Amino acid sequence: MKTTNSEKLFRRAKTVLVGGVNSPVRSFGAVGGSPLFISRAEGPYIYDSDGNKFIDYVASWGPLILGHSHPSVIKAVEGRLALGTSFGAPCELETELALLVAKSFPSIEKVRLTNSGTEATMSAIRLARAVTAREYIIKFEGCYHGHSDFLLVKSGSGATTFGNPSSAGVPKSFVNKTLLARYNDMDSVEKLFTRYPRKIAGVIIEPVAGNMGVVTPEPDFLGKLRLACAKHGAILIFDEVITGFRLGRGGAQERFGTAADITCLGKIIGGGLPVGAYGASADMMRMVSPEGPMYQAGTLSGNPLAMAAGIATIKKLDARNYKHIENLTEFLVSGIRGIISELGIEATVNSEGSMFTVFFTAKRVTDYAGALGCDTARYARFFRSLLQNGVMFPPSQFESVFVSAVHTKKEIGRTLRAIRAALLEVCSGE
Ligand SMILES: *Cc1c(COP(=O)(O)O)cnc(C)c1O
Repeated sequence: MKTTNSEKLFRRAKTVLVGGVNSPVRSFGAVGGSPLFISRAEGPYIYDSDGNKFIDYVASWGPLILGHSHPSVIKAVEGRLALGTSFGAPCELETELALLVAKSFPSIEKVRLTNSGTEATMSAIRLARAVTAREYIIKFEGCYHGHSDFLLVKSGSGATTFGNPSSAGVPKSFVNKTLLARYNDMDSVEKLFTRYPRKIAGVIIEPVAGNMGVVTPEPDFLGKLRLACAKHGAILIFDEVITGFRLGRGGAQERFGTAADITCLGKIIGGGLPVGAYGASADMMRMVSPEGPMYQAGTLSGNPLAMAAGIATIKKLDARNYKHIENLTEFLVSGIRGIISELGIEATVNSEGSMFTVFFTAKRVTDYAGALGCDTARYARFFRSLLQNGVMFPPSQFESVFVSAVHTKKEIGRTLRAIRAALLEVCSGE
């Protein structure tokens, strides 16, 4: 077979970039084959360096809810570009983005902007510890909160409550204050609160998990978590880096009617440029430097280009947009479920708003163990078949599919045909 441009570019990249990429999942390690090198993207479409066109459902892993190269976003960034790329001094756009965030999230009175979701969650944990003067935190197996040391703990063996680092280079002593609970399992949370009385600073959770594939909270789970935190004096941190402005302007908090103490944002609020943020009540945020003793900073934080892209994106998001993407997602997801049952395949689709994941299993997937129990080899075949038919799904089952405001019935129809072909191939390949 002829070598493609993407293969050539990947070979060259690997000579100087670790694994040829700057973020591991991009390497297609979970699905096999050589990653596509992208030359440009517009609306719902992404084009590789061989000129192939794909309907994109990765959306740069979530930020591009308006699709690629949205004219308003491009115009906003272009308009700022000639005025300077970074000031290292306050700029009005930072206030404007922060006001949009605070207006959308009633639980947020004050905001600190960062450059990534990783910085936001790392700082939110620091804030919870600073506010409570406690050290332990609870995270849930299968939730991803960026790559700071003490959050890089996915799962110990079910029996152990202490985390084992899931990365080399993380000292055990850095994660021995990170306690693991099971998603959708309040008992596992209560046990930790009982075992570490008045020692737990906070609980961090993806209110809808996207990083073990989409796993939704069972009714009341978030509400019960809210009550448990209040009861034990712990800070509830919602990592809404994906869900913020995706499940509606007010994120998961608005959707499920449960307020967090600290909210982490990222992805959409940067409109495709590097951004993160955390926010809470004015009282709590007073702890952060320069008002308070908790240090946190960033050379490029509040970058004007990123602010412009984020503001332009959020301003475009109205009820009509959300209705459109959710209706489309509903149409796509029910179509996939129909094909699955028609073909008699052992698969299930988890979805919330414009996020969903196809899991190859006969069971419901409600936690990390369930996600790990799925047939990821089947997902890999499914992914490759879709790609051959012009549809770009995330190159790992442990991710969310994202529908955007610029997808239309036309793309969804094509996608459903590609999915039928892919599911047939997955079945017949055995
Ligand atoms: C992407 C993501 C992060 C990390 O954000 P980065 O900008 O990649 O550092 C944190 N939490 C969640 C839920 C995410 O999906």
